[in-house]
Amino acid sequence: MILTIRNKSLRKTCELVDFADPTLPKLIEDLRNELLAINGRGIGISANQIGVNKQVSLILFPDNWTSKIDITGIKKEYVLINPRITNYGPKVKVDEGCLSVPGVFAIIERSESCEVLNHALNGEEEIISAKGILAQALQHEIDHLNAKLFTDYFSKAQQIIYENKIRRIK
Ligand SMILES: [Zn+2]
Repeated sequence: MILTIRNKSLRKTCELVDFADPTLPKLIEDLRNELLAINGRGIGISANQIGVNKQVSLILFPDNWTSKIDITGIKKEYVLINPRITNYGPKVKVDEGCLSVPGVFAIIERSESCEVLNHALNGEEEIISAKGILAQALQHEIDHLNAKLFTDYFSKAQQIIYENKIRRIK
């Protein structure tokens, strides 16, 4: 089950993962299953959205997306563990939504590109250089791990427009 904006645990910063944590593979599998279960309605999910307060996210581009977006240089799946954004490109306006804020889609600003210092399951560091949809997804998920939601970027006007809709989310 995916927790919604109502749930306060989305507002707690996730803890750094200990790479010796034996539950890590299961957590990644759970995140993958959640994303596959919603059948292409989203491309990313973070551990705190399923109630686990650890710095783990999964980005997965399902088949119904890869036919529509430019996937040049993009892998089908990214497992993020203790990720950190080390470089931001210039800001652009993007259309965004979140599985924890169902039914709300809005234009916000993100960096059109970014660089992420990520870790493999064994703790090895890796750099992800991203642009476009992948850069957007990385920023969105890493925000989750830092207790931030895309609605935090709303302008005053957007806050008013979406206020009722967000209040009605269960
Ligand atoms: Zn989200």
